[in-house]
Amino acid sequence: MKKVNICGLPLNELKEQFKSEDIAPFRAAQVMEWLYKRAAADFSQMDNLPLSLREKLAMKYDLGLGSLVAQLTSKDGKTTKSLIEFADKMAVETVLMRQSYGNSICVSSQAGCAMGCSFCASTLHGVARNLSFGEIMAQALYNLRASKAPINNIVLMGSGEPLQNYDNVLSFIREVHEKYSLNIGYRNITLSTCGIVPRIYDLAQEDLPITLSISLHAPQDELRSELMPINRKYPLHDVLAVADYYAQKTKRRVTYEYILIDHINDNEEQIKALVSILRGKLANVNLIPVNPVLERGFNRPSNKRVQHFQQSLLKQHINATVRREMGADINAACGQLRNKYMQEKTKKS
Ligand code: SAH
Repeated sequence: MKKVNICGLPLNELKEQFKSEDIAPFRAAQVMEWLYKRAAADFSQMDNLPLSLREKLAMKYDLGLGSLVAQLTSKDGKTTKSLIEFADKMAVETVLMRQSYGNSICVSSQAGCAMGCSFCASTLHGVARNLSFGEIMAQALYNLRASKAPINNIVLMGSGEPLQNYDNVLSFIREVHEKYSLNIGYRNITLSTCGIVPRIYDLAQEDLPITLSISLHAPQDELRSELMPINRKYPLHDVLAVADYYAQKTKRRVTYEYILIDHINDNEEQIKALVSILRGKLANVNLIPVNPVLERGFNRPSNKRVQHFQQSLLKQHINATVRREMGADINAACGQLRNKYMQEKTKKS
């Protein structure tokens, strides 16, 4: 019989399950406490549960965490990247960043990605499948174990397009917010999307004050379509309109991610166009010098160009920050560890 995964099962559902098996419902809260507050890896650790119950649980249930197949920590000790494999051998990446303001984690929402952005390593093999709610949660729990301290921020910015896995992603966001779970404030959760317009309208209706981050990367349709094929379906005008709607509905500042690719999207022409589309908006631009994609000849601009781009926006009263790079020595760019793993798997088979 297939075991029931506990990770990704809300507390009230676990209580119901336990009731139907004559297990006292308060035991469900104890199991959740082990999972979410003490990062337990196994039922055998749960020593406030009678041994007979632990054995019974292990027969019928699985914590549903998958297994850790690789873990790398940067030299400065601040960034830990984990590769987690699930029952069907599908592997995903997740990252823990120990920052001065707390522990942030980045989780993947899909194995691979179908969006085809030309600068992104996650999409090279297409999308394999959506991750279940429990598989997204399992990533958070590996990070909790690695951090040995509470998690304060979550960004859905790993591999995949979260709005193509809407229901599981929303379940995850609601669940990590629960007190018995990771107890993360909605304001400390960021969802990053390439701009799936109808789903952003849906998200705005959810009444969750999470931060919306739009991967913009170019202020002109022609260039954006070249870098991000999704722009052909949902062009800039529609993306900007829904972002405004989201900001107005949630009263939350929208973040625009803008990777800087040397002499491709970081020219005077783009500065001008970006200023013109963002002027007067409740917005923040996050500039990210690109992680080079050698196959495509995409390089990182010089510091001088990055500074110039940022200063030009600031002068025009557009909030702009440059993302501090973390964990470059362990290739924290999403998708790279997984690609290496997939290459090795293909070699073996
Ligand atoms: N699909 C979602 C979330 C995953 S990508 C989205 O598009 O937002 C997370 C972020 O990493 C996006 O802003 C993406 O554009 C960026 N990214 C992808 N490849 C990158 C690279 N080579 N260098 C820097 N940022 C990159």
